[in-house]
Amino acid sequence: MRIFVNERGAERLLSRHLWVFARDVVSGPEAPGLYPVYWGRRFLALALYNPQSDLRVRAYRFRPAEDPEKALLENLERAIARRLRALEAEPEGGFRLAHAEGDFLPGLVVDYYAGHAVVQATAHAWEALLPQVAEVLRPLVKSALAKNDARARELEGLSLYVRPLLGQVPEQVVVKEGRVRYLVDLVEGQKTGAFLDQRENRTLMEGFRGERALDVFSYAGGFALHLALGFKEVVAVDSSKEALARAEENARLNGLALKTVEANAFDYLRALERAGERFDLIVLDPPAFAKGKKDLERAYRAYKEVNLRAIKLLKEGGILATASCSHHLTEPLFYEMLTEAAQDAHRVLKVMEKRGQPFDHPVLLNHPETHYLKFTLLEVL
Ligand code: SAH
Repeated sequence: MRIFVNERGAERLLSRHLWVFARDVVSGPEAPGLYPVYWGRRFLALALYNPQSDLRVRAYRFRPAEDPEKALLENLERAIARRLRALEAEPEGGFRLAHAEGDFLPGLVVDYYAGHAVVQATAHAWEALLPQVAEVLRPLVKSALAKNDARARELEGLSLYVRPLLGQVPEQVVVKEGRVRYLVDLVEGQKTGAFLDQRENRTLMEGFRGERALDVFSYAGGFALHLALGFKEVVAVDSSKEALARAEENARLNGLALKTVEANAFDYLRALERAGERFDLIVLDPPAFAKGKKDLERAYRAYKEVNLRAIKLLKEGGILATASCSHHLTEPLFYEMLTEAAQDAHRVLKVMEKRGQPFDHPVLLNHPETHYLKFTLLEVL
């Protein structure tokens, strides 16, 4: 059984983009699964295929293989092998073992939390392969949980559920990150439990000292905990009560002090400004405001607004650590947005560092959708 694509679909795969949408698929099998993709008689790729999804073809290999399933699982083994050194250096840490398209594992995320794995599959063909995925993970972890509750699964015609794949899954685990430890709720947390893509940007905060720091969109105190090592007062803001309860628990676990505020970030920043409050360092790590191309304009304004407000709250020489995890807000647009915010605030932003995704969240230049995280440290003058 083969998938046939048209010329436009072939051009995408030949340029080594991984996706072909329904409009460029000429014909294919009836059932979801792993199949070779052809343009006429020319072999192009092996792909995950779902006839119910608009995102119909997701390539994972550009050479033929005798056993397509084995070839896909080998990609998982290779992805894990690339993380082994980091994992062995910090077995109690958190790392992403499989970063979906970025590791030629379309629609599969596997996060490692101190000896436990959380698996999230958002492409149909993985559903039948989860036992094999668990077998690949077995030598590495004490347990694995399928946290298949992401809304994106509905687009694939998949049900939402959370169930153990391997071993005894604990409700929570303690993960080490730099000089702090934090709790991860495997079952109840957002996404797979934590946001590992910001790991190195968070530990960077351990290098700063000062009076007052503000961590906006803090989740379970991600940046705030590291800041509390060096600042006299740290305020963590989030709209989620559960996340803040966890932030307080994390602060206790580390013997650190945090002030948590449950609020809408936009309102809270405005209130701080009215009250004439000032900070030495502000972190902004908002959720993806732009989920699709359509809402990019509205999202751009939202990013600009929080950044503008944060800039105004910073003392002369203060530091803005700001991020966007929206793929649609590209890197050039991110810096354009920050430039506009600086201009409107009549302040100069001096770039200290431009950063992005860590090694375990690889970016494929040919598949720009794999690049989503922008992070920069700016001095506000
Ligand atoms: N900085 C965190 C991750 C942030 S994820 C870390 O490093 O772990 C984004 C967070 O923003 C989530 O916790 C979510 O609850 C929160 N959030 C979403 N919309 C918000 C809003 N309008 N105001 C405040 N918090 C919001």
